[in-house]
Amino acid sequence: MSAAPLESNATNAAGYEDLCLYIDGQFLKGEGRKEQNVINPATGQVIARLPHASTDDLNRALAAAQKAFESWKHSSPMERSRIMRKVAELTRQRANEIGRNITLDMGKPLAEAIGEVTSCAEHADWTAEESRRIYGRVIPPRLPNVRQMVLREPVGVCAAFSPWNFPYNQAIRKICAAIGAGCTIIIKGPEDAPSAVVAIARMFHDAGLPPGVLNVVWGVPAEVSKHLIDSPIVRKISFTGSVPVGKQLAAMAAAQMKRSTMELGGHSPVIVCEDADVDRAADLLSGFKFRNAGQVCVSPTRFYIQEKVFDRFMARFIDRTKGMKVGDGLAADTKMGPLAHERRVPALESFVNDANDRGARIELGGKRMGGGGFFFEPTIVINPPDDSMLMTTEPFGPIAGCVPYKDLQDTIRRANSLPYGLSSYAFTTNTAHALAIQNGIEAGMVNINHFGQALAETPFGGVKDSGIGSEGGMETFDGYLVTKFVTQMG
Ligand code: NAD
Repeated sequence: MSAAPLESNATNAAGYEDLCLYIDGQFLKGEGRKEQNVINPATGQVIARLPHASTDDLNRALAAAQKAFESWKHSSPMERSRIMRKVAELTRQRANEIGRNITLDMGKPLAEAIGEVTSCAEHADWTAEESRRIYGRVIPPRLPNVRQMVLREPVGVCAAFSPWNFPYNQAIRKICAAIGAGCTIIIKGPEDAPSAVVAIARMFHDAGLPPGVLNVVWGVPAEVSKHLIDSPIVRKISFTGSVPVGKQLAAMAAAQMKRSTMELGGHSPVIVCEDADVDRAADLLSGFKFRNAGQVCVSPTRFYIQEKVFDRFMARFIDRTKGMKVGDGLAADTKMGPLAHERRVPALESFVNDANDRGARIELGGKRMGGGGFFFEPTIVINPPDDSMLMTTEPFGPIAGCVPYKDLQDTIRRANSLPYGLSSYAFTTNTAHALAIQNGIEAGMVNINHFGQALAETPFGGVKDSGIGSEGGMETFDGYLVTKFVTQMG
């Protein structure tokens, strides 16, 4: 297969990203490779073709990453930092164009897409700074002529698999953590929404990253992940996606004693106490719940509202949600775009049907919307039973299940009753309630009276089935480093 390099920053005729693989510093187009359609979820129309990596391509990416690791592991942290800072700068410069392409292939409103990209400039900047401070330590010895040191070294070649819901954010966090730690990386981005990962490759290329340090491949997810995880060259994997797929990949990695970072699904509880600022909580939650059409692993999904304020909260929450403009993400007044894929529409319908069958009230929405795209109404369900599908399985869509509660401790127990443990939310002005929730909730993240997670400087990750490890914060490098103890006498 020929490997003709393309000009960096090229776009196809429609102005959409010119999709390609990126292997050993070269951008590779179709050129006889298998391809798949990329679809605009707002229209159902094909907007581009995405080339798949052949087995040959995957092997070349592995060899390139292995070769590059031999020198990149010795690169100066100053050099790694310089490249990531340049990427941050390019991210800000190219945000409008990249954001538009994300709206085209993934569907989210343009302002959200551009916001995702610009916030990622912060991730690159922060990781650039922090990568200069990956320190070991010296341990006082038992004998005067002994020196004991703990070194933190890059784990090696990493394979990463990033999803479609935040296609820029999820990919750049993995790439920066790996590169900043001195690793090399092969990333398979989301085939459904590929433009963001290609844009990231162009920026690292333009920032002067040496060939082979970052490689981008596409294909049938299960085939690519098996090939890469099975390769003895790969020493670590990182995946963001659903719990079942995460468990499969983590098991494959564990069978070969490879490290993994897993950012998996959630089913986030929200507790609104009787002492909360109820109106503010309803306003904030309406905006946050339907952001990205609810296709967010930390989206609030199970709403437990103290019974004394239930009616007031629901009236305001419904009122704020009712007027939400759903449409093509490129339209200026759109507040919620389509679901990212056609397959998500029947998935959402099954949550509504089950809730209906189980005697819950569909208070708002509940249906697929007309037009050519994959639109679903913002949906609010009252009183779904605790064992209904909506209250037990991650819905990953614009749907909220709302129930009144009497007792806070019992509600914390209900919140903890699922295998998920990603994010959680509470609204209260009572410090005893806030403390009980902070201490009692089994989750990787607890937000009280605001939404403050997913910042560059804060760790993002789950417990229980929601994952292993964190991305962001100082913890971001942990999964990419190994510890070496050195003791020397004389
Ligand atoms: P899915 O389980 O088919 O795919 C989820 C993601 O994993 C996709 O990006 C897909 O390309 C990838 N994937 C699937 N099988 C893979 C494999 N064997 N190897 C490597 N990657 C693989 O589900 P879907 O319909 O695309 O999305 C819906 C579900 O995905 C939701 O229920 C949600 O839990 C989950 N999801 C979670 C996140 C997150 O941020 N944690 C992001 C996207 C999707």
